[in-house]
Amino acid sequence: MREISIIGAGHSGTLLAVGLAKAGHKVSLYSDKDAEGIRDTTSPTGTAAIFADSLAVERRLGARDYQSETNPIDGIHVFFSPRIGQEFINFGTTLGSDTAGAAVDVRLRSYDRMVQLEELGAEVTIGTVDMDGLERIAAGSELTVVATGKGGLSGLFPRDPQRSVFTAPQRKLAMILVRGIPTDGSAFSNRIPGHTPVCFNLFGNAGEIFWVPFLHKDGEKVWCLVFEARPGGPFDRWDGVNDLAGAFATATSLVKEFTPWDWPAMQYMEPLANDPFSWLKGAFAPSVRAGSGLTPGGHAVMSLGDTTVSYDPICGQGAGSGVRQAGHIYDAIMASGDGPLDRAWMEETQEAFYRSHIDPTYRFTNTFLEPPAAAVRILTAAYADQRVAGQLLKTFNRPPEAFPMLADAAAGSDWIRRCTGQSGGSVVAKGKLKVLAAMARNAVKGQNFNRAQAVEPARDLADSTS
Ligand SMILES: Cc1cc2nc3c(=O)[nH]c(=O)nc-3n(C[C@H](O)[C@H](O)[C@H](O)COP(=O)(O)OP(=O)(O)OC[C@H]3O[C@@H](n4cnc5c(N)ncnc54)[C@H](O)[C@@H]3O)c2cc1C
Repeated sequence: MREISIIGAGHSGTLLAVGLAKAGHKVSLYSDKDAEGIRDTTSPTGTAAIFADSLAVERRLGARDYQSETNPIDGIHVFFSPRIGQEFINFGTTLGSDTAGAAVDVRLRSYDRMVQLEELGAEVTIGTVDMDGLERIAAGSELTVVATGKGGLSGLFPRDPQRSVFTAPQRKLAMILVRGIPTDGSAFSNRIPGHTPVCFNLFGNAGEIFWVPFLHKDGEKVWCLVFEARPGGPFDRWDGVNDLAGAFATATSLVKEFTPWDWPAMQYMEPLANDPFSWLKGAFAPSVRAGSGLTPGGHAVMSLGDTTVSYDPICGQGAGSGVRQAGHIYDAIMASGDGPLDRAWMEETQEAFYRSHIDPTYRFTNTFLEPPAAAVRILTAAYADQRVAGQLLKTFNRPPEAFPMLADAAAGSDWIRRCTGQSGGSVVAKGKLKVLAAMARNAVKGQNFNRAQAVEPARDLADSTS
């Protein structure tokens, strides 16, 4: 039995804690808030939609499975406009159980796991851990893991300038949960009828807006709207927003103005008045930090989740990365026998995860922030051929499989040939023709994308929220 301390009760820290406690280790979790405080008085730190491989890690480590309660993310659909007003490329795919995901409120995950940890006999200590506290904890533990998110104690793990591409935020971010959009698969019939996909809207010159089916902490199926604004661009309207009402008004104006194709299905949306914390805004430079660090007294500690790496949320990868890293660290501890969990072990463990997951996932995310020519070819091919679209969108579950094809045109052509049996160049050429036809339709009719149908909310929902 190992004595392991984990600082931070976000979903990545609590997942590792549950896995280790279930495996019989002596786990101490330190959290600045108690379980009710996290659930009821904080905002979720992100949408945290995760896909099949990450869901499997959660189950493997013994955390609660919300499968029967939430809407699956059983599809991904993309509308791409090079500029606002131009409706050009669109494609989507359903996702089978080997890929489909779910977005469960991280506040609910943390709450449930903190309760579970108490039941498992783990020690849960409430209070902010400062550097002196960390020193004492690390001195008394065989292993100390810091999972305090992007802030907290992350300063102990310096940003890696070689591995971090950006020194400034690439987007200003906002997120809000809403009810009143159907969650039974009828909302976005213009995209993937009968399903609850992530619905992306990518605007070359303005940023991204997307919707994700979401399980709210109180058990209600809702939608999470995410806004990624290029600084100074037309979506950059969040600076003066300070409360739920302001967030909802800003979100509504952006959706109505810039995504008219989805607005009919979203026009009855309402804020969650019962949860004033159901929104978020902020900005950060996507960064890779050191996987291990030393306290001033020389004790080695290792990082986990957002403390190790913060991805821009454009591809929804941060939470999934934290889950997989928790699984990876869990496996390394289990494989270590009675061996030392020292700095060398930490570095070896973290480096292996960096190579296998963080590096390709960080590149995957950054590709969508500023798509290079090779990636634009793949998007164009996906517009032409459903098999390309299906394989491309599956990489949201396994970002490493998106390379080298997203970064290299020749590799992309090979990959398209493997997907379709046709030459990459010919599929891309078909896509370009489709784009030209879309441009013509856009010019003549003023639109190209399918419009959603208006769906009034069910009466009992409207009654229960009035
Ligand atoms: C708008 C947005 C959308 C996103 N969408 C997605 C998505 O769809 N899919 C996806 O995979 N990821 C997404 N992400 C990223 C994802 O939400 C985060 O990566 C994830 O929630 C981070 O979890 P964590 O456990 O590492 O850290 P956190 O959730 O930040 O948890 C850290 C915990 O540590 C506590 N703490 C901090 N300091 C101390 C201290 N000194 N002592 C004790 N406790 C402390 C905090 O209170 C908190 O409870 C999104 C992010 C944003 C901003």
